[in-house]
Amino acid sequence: MSAALRRILPAVAVVLVAALALPVATRADALRVTWRPAKPRPGDVVMVQIAGVGEAATVEGSLGEHNLTFFPYAGGQAAMVGLDVDEKPGTEPWRVAVVETGRTPRTARGDLRIASRKFNIQHLTLPSGMVDLDAETERRAVEEGERLRALFRTSTPVRLWHGRFTRPVPGSEPGTGYGARRIINGQPRAPHTGIDYAVDRGTPVVAVNGGRVALVGDYFFPGRLVVLDHGLAVYTLYFHLDTVGVTDGEMVERGQPIGTVGATGRATGPHLHFGAHVGGARVDPASLLGLAVSD
Ligand SMILES: [Zn+2]
Repeated sequence: MSAALRRILPAVAVVLVAALALPVATRADALRVTWRPAKPRPGDVVMVQIAGVGEAATVEGSLGEHNLTFFPYAGGQAAMVGLDVDEKPGTEPWRVAVVETGRTPRTARGDLRIASRKFNIQHLTLPSGMVDLDAETERRAVEEGERLRALFRTSTPVRLWHGRFTRPVPGSEPGTGYGARRIINGQPRAPHTGIDYAVDRGTPVVAVNGGRVALVGDYFFPGRLVVLDHGLAVYTLYFHLDTVGVTDGEMVERGQPIGTVGATGRATGPHLHFGAHVGGARVDPASLLGLAVSD
């Protein structure tokens, strides 16, 4: 036996013993995976919760083409998935895999049905200067859109939000217009991917949950804007602001004022355009606000 082999053999033996000592999975070890809502629609934010795993477990999984990023939640693990406004209805397969020290790796799989959803068609008449852009403005708007999309593709690897998401403006009127197929001056345009709150100029706008100010800007369509990064690829957007009271990189808490309602950018009057992105998907912000999160 060579000296090198003699050195390796005890290590191999230890690995073998460790493998034999692993407990055998029993029925009681089965993963309990819950999807909420159970029949989501395009635009929904879906929470997948796994019970029967420790907060220290390593969990990975997917739903169709979405990768799931798990975080410790309510004594187990959970992940949030965003279904885009253009998500196709149908059946998506999902799977999760759990690795915990001292236990046999466990997996679970199944199917999630995504129901169909009808969106309104909205006809708008706007001054042509807001619609038919000159080449330079067009370039600016395209570049600003790309900068936002690049931001939404990045993910801060920690969860900065906790507990329920709160309304960005006072009152109880639901925001409107998510997913509306827009026909502006007779021409079909991109769908409206946020919700609009018709509130007076100067109304305080608050952070809907804890996060970090990822962007403060003055863009052609959104006007004065703030984007908050809530971690794990969850972002919220606040457009057409009159004033902004936060700066890039600042940490904010749920309910903290970040600016006031205005009509900057392409807006026909004072209102708050509020948007949300989860894992790069343009989700219905009302779905985020409606999540029954406890942790
Ligand atoms: Zn809007």
